[in-house]
Amino acid sequence: MNTNDFSIRHIGPRLSDYDAMLKTIGVSSLDQLINETIPDNIKLQKELDLDEPMSEFEYSSHINELSKLNKVYKTYIGLGYNPTILPAVIQRNILENPGWYTAYTPYQAEIAQGRLEALLNFQTMVTDLTGMELANASLLDESTAAAEAMSLLFAVRDRDQKKADVNKFFVSDLVLPQTIDLLETRAVPIGIELVIGNEAEYNLTNDYFGALLQYPAKNGKITDIKSFIEKANAVNIKVAVCADILSLIKLEAPGKFGADVVVGTTQRFGIPMGYGGPHAAYFATKEAYKRDIPGRIIGVTKDKNGNRALRMALQTREQHIKRDKATSNICTAQVLLAVMAGMYAVYHGPRGLTYIANKVNNSAAALSKALKDLGIEQTNAYFFDTIQIKADAVKTKYEAEKKEVNFHYPDTNTVTISINETTSISDLNEIISIFEKVTETTTSPIETLETNDTIPDHLQRETEFLTLDVFNSYHSETELMRYIKRLERKDLALNQSMISLGSCTMKLNAAAEMLPLSNPNWGNIHPFAPVNQPIGYKLVLNALENQLTEITGFSATSLQPNSGAQGEFAGLMVIRAYHESRGDHHRNICLIPSSAHGTNPASAVMAGMKVVVTKASENGNIDVEDLREKAIKYKDNLSALMVTYPSTHGVFESAICEITQIIHDNGGQVYMDGANMNAQVGLTNPGKIGADVCHLNLHKTFAIPHGGGGPGVGPICVAKQLVPFLPGNPIIKTGGHQSISAISAAPFGSALACLISYGYIKMLGAAGLKKSTEIAILNANYIKARLDGAFNTLYSGEKGRAAHEMIIDCREFKAKGIEVVDIAKRLMDYGFHAPTVSFPVAGTMMIEPTESESKEEMDRFCDAMISIRHEIEAADKDDDNNPLKNAPHTQAMLTDDEWNLPYSRKTAAFPLEYVADNKFWPTVRRVDDAYGDRNLICTCAPIEEYMEA
Ligand SMILES: *Cc1c(COP(=O)(O)O)cnc(C)c1O
Repeated sequence: MNTNDFSIRHIGPRLSDYDAMLKTIGVSSLDQLINETIPDNIKLQKELDLDEPMSEFEYSSHINELSKLNKVYKTYIGLGYNPTILPAVIQRNILENPGWYTAYTPYQAEIAQGRLEALLNFQTMVTDLTGMELANASLLDESTAAAEAMSLLFAVRDRDQKKADVNKFFVSDLVLPQTIDLLETRAVPIGIELVIGNEAEYNLTNDYFGALLQYPAKNGKITDIKSFIEKANAVNIKVAVCADILSLIKLEAPGKFGADVVVGTTQRFGIPMGYGGPHAAYFATKEAYKRDIPGRIIGVTKDKNGNRALRMALQTREQHIKRDKATSNICTAQVLLAVMAGMYAVYHGPRGLTYIANKVNNSAAALSKALKDLGIEQTNAYFFDTIQIKADAVKTKYEAEKKEVNFHYPDTNTVTISINETTSISDLNEIISIFEKVTETTTSPIETLETNDTIPDHLQRETEFLTLDVFNSYHSETELMRYIKRLERKDLALNQSMISLGSCTMKLNAAAEMLPLSNPNWGNIHPFAPVNQPIGYKLVLNALENQLTEITGFSATSLQPNSGAQGEFAGLMVIRAYHESRGDHHRNICLIPSSAHGTNPASAVMAGMKVVVTKASENGNIDVEDLREKAIKYKDNLSALMVTYPSTHGVFESAICEITQIIHDNGGQVYMDGANMNAQVGLTNPGKIGADVCHLNLHKTFAIPHGGGGPGVGPICVAKQLVPFLPGNPIIKTGGHQSISAISAAPFGSALACLISYGYIKMLGAAGLKKSTEIAILNANYIKARLDGAFNTLYSGEKGRAAHEMIIDCREFKAKGIEVVDIAKRLMDYGFHAPTVSFPVAGTMMIEPTESESKEEMDRFCDAMISIRHEIEAADKDDDNNPLKNAPHTQAMLTDDEWNLPYSRKTAAFPLEYVADNKFWPTVRRVDDAYGDRNLICTCAPIEEYMEA
């Protein structure tokens, strides 16, 4: 046996376990199990055509060689992306630490207080700097955040402005080009008319519902947003502002001028550019819109003992859960990056950030002055970090690239230069020397930086920021390291135990896949760098596209969407463009089975489609007759079916080919939600079942860690007829010949995170991928068999098998007074994170172990579940005082002098033998969601401050 084979590190069960597992399931071989699970008509007949797998060691030199092909130039391009300094203490203790990057979205608040605290810091930082009342815990990028701002203002226009019939939205022509392109994508399908114009001169009238500005503008100019907002408000127009977070240290907060929404990226706070992402965008608004905010908001509440506790606020109102009533489809966001950006603010504090902002601003001012000495005209009277000069772009570019320097060249006579945190005085002098060449004159070098008057008086920041303790306490490395560790210890991540979240596929995120993310040759590339520079990226991204195209059995792939939900939206927009190209402008009906994930209907509505829900049959499968009836009924207007396969019920439906045929026969296209791709890779694929497009969640199936709720990558893979429409980018040519406009700000979305999936496929190869799928199915069926008798599985395939996950029914325990959440909370006492709760069926749990979990770990989990089953049996409907209702039990309870519960401390906290060996303590008791929602607090200010208000 080749023990360097990566698959034996990635896959949990040992060869020697297989027999016992198969026996428990009641089959004689793995082949028999797979044959009984996957219908014959959809099985692939040959192996995937992929490169031979590499060992971890081979991959490490391979990816390092590729990184050297990237030409890493000094970058002053700006446009929303800047070189940064990631503090090493944050890199090592968060980015490179599985305690942070392998955590799940903090739905189970009691074992997630650490990252909830870090996200509350992020929200506080954003509300402080923007001067707004509320902020969420991140969106995908600045441009999508701007689109969310537009959508929010559109959604509330009747309620707030009595403008039900108004659909015009003004966009300043000084907004970033990628943002304008993306607004176009999002505006058209929902009937918003974009009007792009000069913000200083435009005559605003009240037939607009909203407007969007860039602060400072794309060319660096600080425009007078104060008077624009006054002007707009006077005619009942709401204003959203895209603001550079670092500039807000020096510029007055837009909230002070009456902005309604403020959005932007926090990339500048220590996050590598990574050729476009991932980075956390922020979204801040007024309290009045708290129920309309996209994404997730962290809020303060109390636990069962009245102690302060955090949790995701208004959780059931996360927009996508409202399905077709939602105004946003955001599910996965950019949590890990938000944690890092928030920690950057904690580390630097207000004084450190002020130092950085001053240095950037003073450097830009010094450069402006020096260039003036060379006779070059600088056209921004007021600026923060970016100057705009009149110079021959071709000549400048030639001289700059000789010195490995990138500027931005908006037209043949204009150059913009954006200064950043890393820029030194010698960098400034290098820039000057480039222009000495261009102008063939000389000037004296810059020696020191001085304060300057580049910020207009009435926009100077006066409002204090980051005054709270947390931003003024951890400025030495020792203190920050311990603060990060203290938070980490409150959180249960994959480095503690299995997280068997159905649909979310929490598998191993191998260290070998993660290591390249720390390499500056990957980190320091600007997404709009000239295309002849990021050669390493080009090779990796092309190869990954080809790998995914092969795996899905399609014709091409776009890596642009940066979450699964964005992939859904992108896929539907591509389908829409296809219909339109054939003159079928009227095709707008989207069929969606009732069991679909909430993002499906939310995405369909964003794509301008009308959702028609189709029924599930009694066994949980799609009701084919109902589907046929609806497909025929709507055949003249049918656009698409969205189908999850294997189904969200954990079953490979054998009727799938018939289903896709029905849709095609009636003029529709088939969208496959690929969240369950972990059950397919190497065994079957969406091309084989007759789908036309699917998204993949690289952060589920393809080993990108969940990051506590992001980053994600949600590429779409498409059949031949859809290839021409794959999404483009206004600056870097990408996508199909008739590409739809941008889905994400960056041409290749979150390129840096794509390295992880590339490595995953490269090291597993065709055989390892197929084996992983088989073992994912083996593991799920093993758990199903072990729990048999204690818990009923809700749905199975025709031969009684689960796919890669299963749903267990907990509704019968209501007779004992036990709800499914009680089981979820009790699992914490046993050291486990709960499986997915109440999706897709209320009162159930969906368990997905993945291939990476060992038999031993699954046995511990099953032992815990069976033990809990006995506790349920012993529970009394009329007496809440039992281990399930009281769960989770904290260390404070166990060590208190008093113990008045009717069961022992051992039963409470050490219910099975194995627990003592690796005890995980939830740090708060059960959180009170309702209390927190009634008293919404979303920053880390002390509660008393709010009580006085
Ligand atoms: C996770 C998931 C999605 C959404 O993906 P995000 O990356 O969170 O946007 C969609 N459908 C299903 C079935 C999922 O499990």
